[in-house]
Amino acid sequence: MADRAPRFPAKDSRLLADSEAFRAAGHALVDQIADFYASLPDRPVTAGESPAQVRALLPEGGLPATGRPAAELLTEVAPLLFDHSLHNGHPRFLAYITSSASPLGALADLLAASVNPNVGRFDVAPFATAVEQQTVSWLAELVGFPADCGGIMVSGGNMANFLAFIAARQAQTTWDVRHAGLQGDTRRLTAYVSAEAHTWVDKAADVAGLGADAIRWVETDSEQRLRPDALRAQIAADRAAGRLPFLVVGTAGTTGTGAIDPLPELAAIAKAEGLWFHVDGAYGAPAAALPEAPPALKALALADSVALDPHKWLYSPLEAACVLVRDADALAAAFSFLPSYYKLDPIHDDEAPVVNFYNLGMQNSRSFRALKVWLGLRHAGRDGIIDMIRRDIALIAELHAQVQAHPEFEARSLSLSITTFRYRPADLADDDQSHDYLDRLNRRLLDELQGAGEAFVSNALIDDTFWLRACVVNFRTTAADMAAIPTIIARLGRQLDDEMRSEAS
Ligand SMILES: *Cc1c(COP(=O)(O)O)cnc(C)c1O
Repeated sequence: MADRAPRFPAKDSRLLADSEAFRAAGHALVDQIADFYASLPDRPVTAGESPAQVRALLPEGGLPATGRPAAELLTEVAPLLFDHSLHNGHPRFLAYITSSASPLGALADLLAASVNPNVGRFDVAPFATAVEQQTVSWLAELVGFPADCGGIMVSGGNMANFLAFIAARQAQTTWDVRHAGLQGDTRRLTAYVSAEAHTWVDKAADVAGLGADAIRWVETDSEQRLRPDALRAQIAADRAAGRLPFLVVGTAGTTGTGAIDPLPELAAIAKAEGLWFHVDGAYGAPAAALPEAPPALKALALADSVALDPHKWLYSPLEAACVLVRDADALAAAFSFLPSYYKLDPIHDDEAPVVNFYNLGMQNSRSFRALKVWLGLRHAGRDGIIDMIRRDIALIAELHAQVQAHPEFEARSLSLSITTFRYRPADLADDDQSHDYLDRLNRRLLDELQGAGEAFVSNALIDDTFWLRACVVNFRTTAADMAAIPTIIARLGRQLDDEMRSEAS
């Protein structure tokens, strides 16, 4: 019996609960992180290791039976993470749409986790709830959406779009869809998106019970933008066939090429047809803050809902996204259930009903992810944000101009902060004969480039052709980095072209 009695471990090994131990470990960790930030430009973008090499870095065997001092673990693990990660904060990381995360955001996450408010209900997270409400309203203001809209912070663009999808389903059904389900009507609910839209649409239709066949992937033009005439025709055909159209989705900056759908036309069609108009601005919405933004983008102001992703183009660390809804009651209408184990909602004060965020989305317990976004907005201010976004756009335009002028590159597209291009040996024409070879060459080039760690771009498939793709959402990228990219890629391209031609002969 005696050895079953609880043995109290030393303070340091109890979750770092001693405040002096926390202070020491925290200072040491912040020092390590500051050095890491400073070292970023000199590091490879990635170590390019195999899964086996990475797994070999972990402790052997099963769950450790006994613990180790927290400070020691932190000191040991931080360099492992620094040395064996793909650094999306690296100045020459230009892939996907993952921003260089702000160091301020990292500290904000630490602060949020330290107090650990559960931002599900006002009464258990009063300050944090108020901050999240203000963050939602400021994000709306930033992108030109009505600031008195409803909204909520979520984990990412997928979730933000998904909430809007469900809100649209609720708003557009004439029967009680939340209780009766889709069986309340025999007509098939149908949503319209461009063929270039992100895969969240498939997931949303699947999980919402509509089935992926409820999605109409509407044809795009030569610039990857949804074609309004094709949309009109598809809606008409679907109505004639007894379907129930409910949602038009416009993309404000496609993931592949940054294409902006003609949002004013889409808004007009949705209005004329009585459909919910949602804009997926996961990537491009923040660019609507620029005075010089194209009207097609600014028209996201006309939407019923907008998804945007501060962890993409507002330099917030993962995870931070937001959905905005014009009708401030639309999210509660779609998500609230009032359980018996909470006090009755809503709590009112003199001015306005208090928001309990668990009622506006899927999550119950919620982290204070708004803090890093709120602090980021206050720190940069509207002008600072506009400057940073404008700079990203100017940098990518610079790269586009360089590949366009280069005899060994072919430039394909430029929109927002994304450009696509491919390596094409100067003696190869852009014709059917060389198509397959150029595809293979560029695929291999991308593989090797991504493994080598000197610079990191990704790819886009446009009209069945493989293109290299660079995207700048990165406050660390400089003009010198942009100038280096064509040199790095051309050097690798030449090498591979030589190899592949000699393999073939
Ligand atoms: C990235 C992206 C998404 C998904 O966002 P996550 O934050 O990765 O969940 C949705 N739509 C578009 C247009 C995107 O670029």
